Amino acid sequence: MAKHPDVLILGGGIIGLTSAYLMAKAGLRVQLIDRQELGREASWAGAGILPPFHKLSGASTPIDALRANSVAGFASFSEELEEQTRIDNGYRVCGGIEVLHADAAYALPLWDAEGIVYERIDATALRNLEPRLYFSVRHGHGDSAKVYHLPGFAQVRNPWHLQALIAACQAERVNFITGCHLKNWKLVAGHVVGVFDSTGRLHEAGSYLVANGAWAEEWLQPLGCQLGIHPVRGQIVLYHPEFPLVSRVILDGKRYLVPRGDGRILVGSTEEPEAGFVRATTPAGQGELQRFARDWIPALADAVVETAWAGLRPTSVDGLPSIGPVPGQANVFAAVGHGRAGIQLSLGTAQLVVGHMTGRSLPQYADSFHLDRRPNTEFRPAFRS
Ligand SMILES: Cc1cc2nc3c(=O)[nH]c(=O)nc-3n(C[C@H](O)[C@H](O)[C@H](O)COP(=O)(O)OP(=O)(O)OC[C@H]3O[C@@H](n4cnc5c(N)ncnc54)[C@H](O)[C@@H]3O)c2cc1C
Repeated sequence: MAKHPDVLILGGGIIGLTSAYLMAKAGLRVQLIDRQELGREASWAGAGILPPFHKLSGASTPIDALRANSVAGFASFSEELEEQTRIDNGYRVCGGIEVLHADAAYALPLWDAEGIVYERIDATALRNLEPRLYFSVRHGHGDSAKVYHLPGFAQVRNPWHLQALIAACQAERVNFITGCHLKNWKLVAGHVVGVFDSTGRLHEAGSYLVANGAWAEEWLQPLGCQLGIHPVRGQIVLYHPEFPLVSRVILDGKRYLVPRGDGRILVGSTEEPEAGFVRATTPAGQGELQRFARDWIPALADAVVETAWAGLRPTSVDGLPSIGPVPGQANVFAAVGHGRAGIQLSLGTAQLVVGHMTGRSLPQYADSFHLDRRPNTEFRPAFRS
């Protein structure tokens, strides 16, 4: 047996772990290194919203095609993980209510093109679906806002999903090294031949996958690749009411409410690029989210705030992830920059990674995520979360 693994993955968030699992299933010997416990950064912090999909061929933009293909596989992937590990990842199609303000009207033609099932509803229909919701112009929900019911919205309990991924990777003999802070590349004549950790130990492999979230830029720049990946902090508040108050995900602009199966309600989220790498909650952020929550569900005024947290979204300049080979490096790949959408895009991303690394044929939309693409800040995906 060769001394080194075929692939060394830098970072054990949802992107690194899903890629590790699919690579191991494809027959590669995989090692994954993280500086802390696996899956404790953005992937743990996320809300786990999975937007709907319909016709895979109908998606209008590459990012919608990636989302549709990724989310389409989530039900069977969840079953596969549960069979392997006996861990329920909390995947369920719960439906959603989405409020589109005037600035988001562009989404409708995208939904139509893809064949997303939706229905515009009025206040009475909304009350029938979710009696405890309070939709009101008075509360700043806006008189131009239109409310839609999308039965295909789903969710996953991402901390549970991560546990399932970790166990499934172990079953596939992925070699984990945790508590190991990777420091820098070992380069010979400009080419990567290994990675040094903070103790000076060298880790070598046939290929390398950069999947370390908001911290990716410092790994790509020394290879001459500037993607501008940066952290955008997002805060969340978790309520634990005495009994379930709503059953669907509610999305209103960049804010949302996600009811878990046990009645807990997760409220998100702020967008704070100015916070840099500081992963802390703030009174201002928490206050804003609690006001939003009580405006929508007045009964939450009496509910207990169980806890709150923040995470750092790995955000790119144009909002698109970068997935594929690092230009000029035959054996280095990246899967980075998933911003607000890394949970929903995780499976589709890992499939592309495996395709790139094993030379399998790739769908055409994969070209749009090449690391050397020209950033396209004009793109607007069909779903914001
Ligand atoms: C509040 C919030 C809500 C969100 N809600 C949703 C949602 O509803 N739906 C959705 O699809 N997405 C959502 N997201 C986005 C999603 O969580 C992220 O896009 C996704 O988790 C990114 O995964 P990742 O694996 O790239 O990064 P991470 O999960 O951040 O993982 C990176 C890993 O790399 C490790 N690492 C970094 N540097 C080093 C180093 N030098 N050495 C060793 N290890 C290193 C870290 O320890 C970490 O484990 C949300 C994000 C936040 C913050």
